Amino acid sequence: MERYQDSKLYRIRHSTAHVMAQAVLEKFPQAKIAIGPPIEDGFYYDFDLPRPLTDEDLAGIEARMRDIIREGHDFVRKEVSADEARALFHDQPYKLELIDGLERGGVDEYGEKTDEAPVISTYTQDSFEDLCRGPHVANTREINPDALSITFKAPAGAYWRGDENREMLTRIYGTAWETAEQLEEYLALLEEARKRDHRVIGQQLGLFTFSQLVGKGLPLWKPNGAILRDLLERFLREVQIERGYEPVITPHIARVALYEKSGHYPYYKDSQYSPFEVEGDLFMLKPMNCPHHIHVYKDDLHSYRDLPMRMAEFGTVYRYEKSGELHGLTRVRGFTQDDAHIFCTPEQLEDEFVGVIDLVESILNGLGLNDRRARVGIRDPQSDKYVGSDEVWEQAAQAIIAAATRKGLDFTVEEGEAAFYGPKLDFIVRDALKREWQISTIQVDYNLPARFELEYVGEDNERHQPIMIHRALYGSMERFVAVLIEHYAGAFPAWLAPVQVALIPVADRHIAYAQDVANILHSKGLRVQVDDSNGRVGGKIRAATQQKIPWMLVVGDRDAASSTVSVRLRSGEDLGAQPVLAFADLATRLVESKSLELA
Ligand SMILES: [Zn+2]
Ligand SMILES: [Zn+2]
Repeated sequence: MERYQDSKLYRIRHSTAHVMAQAVLEKFPQAKIAIGPPIEDGFYYDFDLPRPLTDEDLAGIEARMRDIIREGHDFVRKEVSADEARALFHDQPYKLELIDGLERGGVDEYGEKTDEAPVISTYTQDSFEDLCRGPHVANTREINPDALSITFKAPAGAYWRGDENREMLTRIYGTAWETAEQLEEYLALLEEARKRDHRVIGQQLGLFTFSQLVGKGLPLWKPNGAILRDLLERFLREVQIERGYEPVITPHIARVALYEKSGHYPYYKDSQYSPFEVEGDLFMLKPMNCPHHIHVYKDDLHSYRDLPMRMAEFGTVYRYEKSGELHGLTRVRGFTQDDAHIFCTPEQLEDEFVGVIDLVESILNGLGLNDRRARVGIRDPQSDKYVGSDEVWEQAAQAIIAAATRKGLDFTVEEGEAAFYGPKLDFIVRDALKREWQISTIQVDYNLPARFELEYVGEDNERHQPIMIHRALYGSMERFVAVLIEHYAGAFPAWLAPVQVALIPVADRHIAYAQDVANILHSKGLRVQVDDSNGRVGGKIRAATQQKIPWMLVVGDRDAASSTVSVRLRSGEDLGAQPVLAFADLATRLVESKSLELA
């Protein structure tokens, strides 16, 4: 498959970014330009502008871009020395900083780390010259003026070089395609994604919030969100118990020495919080649960008869993320993994691995995430960031491939996708909008058992080293909930809905009856809400629909007289009047079976 970076679309997008920068500079000659790379589905360019942009500005810039394209300008490449480049960009401070980096080497013209030789080149079209290594299309005519759009519609900011101590720039996003139809399809998808944004729905449904005083990237789960998360945890806990997992609980901090021994420190230093001193010893927030579980294992002497040992914990870990990179629940600074570690003998490895694949499949299928692929991640042979011998890596990779093959998984093998201590199998889910999310991961590890000198007594009465499997099905609870919100657009299967039934009395005189019905349903284990507000029925139905409550029961005179409820679904479908107990049976049956249906 052709790499995106080598595709025509990539050159079109990169070239459109340059055209956009030209249009912006024509409008704001005093603007300073930063960087403008192609990205997945489009491109952006960062500017230091004299004033905030209005919708009119953006429309004008877009119109000017189309004119520039139709004028038919060549993209002309030129290699220059660092001093020539400085002269060319003498009034562009961001470019001057990038030129310094290029001259020193090790970074590219976007300021990103690179191994490529430091060549300084520019590309010019019409009046615009940019510090750039390309590649570009030959002429602006290769860009379809009817297949591009500026997609930035609200104030979007970005820090220069992602550093919140540096200047806040205006980032303008755009997209470009080969045909107008492709553009239209993409914009429709973008609009749908916007509607499903978990940050928006999370607020509408009262699932979670953030507080400036608590701190960025630290979500606060409100009752509705906590109910949802707790249901997901309980679902997995129950299945895990059936499959022989044992719960453990471990603390949120530990001595730095523990992570030095595991190799997480200093390897993951950049994504961890600074250590702090307690009584002369250094401690840190837990970035990983594995070393703690290892010490649970080490507390007893194990015989081969005790293995496999499957240890599970919903363990909260803390990772440093730059504030510019935080995003709703998907990029946070503290999150909870549904973490488990399996300690087993080499003979048990493949069966255990297959068992985890089964578990992943049953959980993801149960949640309606059926569209997915698998990826076996092995070492990047060029890199030295991995620990352990070649033989052990080979053995582990073979065990994973054997298990995946036995399960009939559709998988690819990709270099450079391994953990630092071993190869892994990842499950990548496609959501309702066909966007991919890496969710579950299963990893084989011979290295941590060696580092921590783990043992079991074998059948031969000798000491042997167990193998560890690390696995997480949801991955991070925070991120997983975000994926579910966007997949379902907040309309969760009934068993996960924070409120399952809304009772809607037609008039005040029906409130008492509504309350009686609510009590009956509540006693059957359903989560019920009575809307006793003053509004009209239509308004109450709209409110419940916006809350994505699966079942709405409208009750009036006839219902109260005959012990029925008039059932409406959040889809708008009307199921008519049903005896209260018949509805209760239907709802509890669908909830208990974790059905994705509402009728
Ligand atoms: Zn460029
Ligand atoms: Zn682990």
